[in-house]
Amino acid sequence: MEFCDECGAMLTPKKIDGKVMMVCPKCGEKKKELTKEEQIVKEKVKHTEKESMVVIENPEQIKTMPTKKMHCPKCKSVQETQYWTVQTRSGDEAPTRFYRCTKCKTTWREYD
Ligand SMILES: [Zn+2]
Ligand SMILES: [Zn+2]
Repeated sequence: MEFCDECGAMLTPKKIDGKVMMVCPKCGEKKKELTKEEQIVKEKVKHTEKESMVVIENPEQIKTMPTKKMHCPKCKSVQETQYWTVQTRSGDEAPTRFYRCTKCKTTWREYD
């Protein structure tokens, strides 16, 4: 996050002549342009955040989920976990299995 040197307002990215500039919404002060690399990094972060996020649509489902003793990456020990599978976009891909530690509530996906 960047702030304007002139008035201290939060700068917002704006496209000017095809270049991304950090512009102050208050006084119009322009700051440095984001490089291609910086933009790519931002995109990547967004992407991975989405990938690792697990949405449980119906909380009632959790109660009826089967449990299994699994090694929890957060507790760093074997814990009782609940597990479920999620079918990804295309039906011919193998479904992904998710685990949720009943102790620390951490959710992770099964790694091959
Ligand atoms: Zn300003
Ligand atoms: Zn745990």
